[in-house]
Amino acid sequence: MKFLSYILLALIFLPACLETDDAFIHDVGISSGVGDEVLGSHRLLVYLNFNGGELFDGDCGNPQKNISCINHTEGDFAPHDSDDEYRSDVVELLRSLWIDYDVAFTRLRPPAHYDYVMIVISPQQSFNDYIMVKDGYVVGGVAPLDCHNKRLSDTAHVFTGKKVRNVLDMAEVISHETGHTLGLGHVTDQESMMYGLRTKQDREWKDICVIEIEYPCASLSPIWCPPGFINHHRELLQIVGPSYQ
Ligand SMILES: [Zn+2]
Repeated sequence: MKFLSYILLALIFLPACLETDDAFIHDVGISSGVGDEVLGSHRLLVYLNFNGGELFDGDCGNPQKNISCINHTEGDFAPHDSDDEYRSDVVELLRSLWIDYDVAFTRLRPPAHYDYVMIVISPQQSFNDYIMVKDGYVVGGVAPLDCHNKRLSDTAHVFTGKKVRNVLDMAEVISHETGHTLGLGHVTDQESMMYGLRTKQDREWKDICVIEIEYPCASLSPIWCPPGFINHHRELLQIVGPSYQ
């Protein structure tokens, strides 16, 4: 009798699990049938959490349990007030900005046994003295600096004011915060994705040496740049790996 109840539970819950995994695989743009070993081990996964939720204080590296290690980012975060089309546009743009690297962006939370970077995208922030996001058109963020991506999972934040609709701003700030979770610090080049203020659009991961100024991690690419400089493109190829598609 006990054996029978286990079977019934399996029958009830198995379809739901399969549905979640299928949806996840579809969202990262990989055909169904690709196994865990590909998604889990050979790709940087970035989960774009537009849906908000409660975050908790704790050690870095556990977005699976909604833990953020950045001071004063605990509490309830409201969903981003954007529609499905906008969110899809952000994902598409991110895929093009990161096309050279082995990274997948998804709007669906990966299964719990995956490592992933979670970017919490919300119109609110919990520390107004740190990032001034007050009107409707400012976007900013904060992320842990994880040198050389020692932790494969991290939680970062993008704050959008109340009604940010600019897809390019959103995708570039998400890219910038993701860069921090991979160990990239700020640089002096205003056209670089890792410039610390948003003064220009159309930023990119440049294949040139630029001056790193804040919280630099030891470069993984000393053969390309002298000390104090960094080549983001080469660095990302080292940390994330090249795209194989
Ligand atoms: Zn930054």
